Amino acid sequence: MKIAVLPGDGIGPEIVAQAVRVLEVLRSEGLKIEMEYAHIGGAGYDAAKDPLPEATLKLAHASDAVLLGAVGGYQYDNLPRPQRPEQGLLRIRKGLGLFANLRPAMVYPELANASSLKPEIVAGLDIMILRELTGDIYFGQPRGIRNLENGERQGFDTMLYSESEIRRIAHVGFRIAMKRNKKVCSVDKANVLDTSMLWREIVTAVGKEYPAVELSHMYVDNAAMQLVRAPKQFDVIVTGNIFGDILSDEASMLTGSIGMLPSASLDANNKGLYEPCHGSAPDIAGKNIANPLATILSVAMMMRYTFAREDVAQRIEAAVRKTLQKGLRTGDIFEDGLSKVGTDAMGDAVVAALK
Ligand code: NAD
Repeated sequence: MKIAVLPGDGIGPEIVAQAVRVLEVLRSEGLKIEMEYAHIGGAGYDAAKDPLPEATLKLAHASDAVLLGAVGGYQYDNLPRPQRPEQGLLRIRKGLGLFANLRPAMVYPELANASSLKPEIVAGLDIMILRELTGDIYFGQPRGIRNLENGERQGFDTMLYSESEIRRIAHVGFRIAMKRNKKVCSVDKANVLDTSMLWREIVTAVGKEYPAVELSHMYVDNAAMQLVRAPKQFDVIVTGNIFGDILSDEASMLTGSIGMLPSASLDANNKGLYEPCHGSAPDIAGKNIANPLATILSVAMMMRYTFAREDVAQRIEAAVRKTLQKGLRTGDIFEDGLSKVGTDAMGDAVVAALK
């Protein structure tokens, strides 16, 4: 298991350090894990004047998986766009051909009060939003702002999906569902958009190859409503880039705790980049108060999706659950009556539970 470790900026190094401790426990038990560090984001700019130094991309290509903290910081806000930290992220995703973005939204029963929705609507929630990451209106050509004959300007973008792009993300969705509750809901806007009509046709055809999986289709406007009305009806949601962008953020807020949410971005061979959903939180960086659980849970996803070690993934997830059950909380998920701990102590507790 060759893992590139890219801590990045802000709280990135603190939370990644705790995830690395989990990997070290697994290594001490006999898993053949190799880790190598490199810079990304502002740290890449500081080291090599580039948010994605060549050596970092090279290491990522040579690795099976990438563990990333977060990028960004106030001191980089005024750099020209190509040098900005987030360009490092966009370029590494593109450079590795990561087209499938997996965003689980889970609510541990212990944290059901953190959601702004009623606990009974979200307690035990476990859904997976699968967003296509490299196509759609974000990348379609032509696009631009043009001058019309009447003198006003007009902005335009092009929504595009080819059959092969739809087919490969659909396969990922069905394969994930096979490992979960065997339900896929494909989200589109087929009542209005031709791109979505093709999307629905191809997803339906791919679905025939997975008879064990129940496939349904939903329009995106309805999906946005259903996610807050009755989110537990979903297992895997598969959708395009722009709809997935919006729905995955909506779903993450169902949980009410950004410090708990992992993510994965996969290529066609299950190579993956694993990172927490949150950013570099410069407001709390260096204070040993950031929640490391999203990053630790990203390692669980790495074990599940890149290394096909469901057993190890479940052990890490169980260790996190045990830590929550003991009443340990970082500040972002703290409630009166429980024990408030820092980043290191949360890592200690997960490591102890894992052992
Ligand atoms: P953010 O996610 O960094 O922080 C939002 C709020 O959540 C802050 O109050 C922060 O303290 C809190 N928070 C985030 N993660 C936490 C954790 N693990 N534990 C406890 N609290 C946590 O978003 P932002 O403030 O909008 O952005 C800050 C920087 O991060 C910016 O430079 C932005 O560009 C960057 N960013 C990076 C990524 C990424 O690397 N994937 C994603 C989003 C934002």
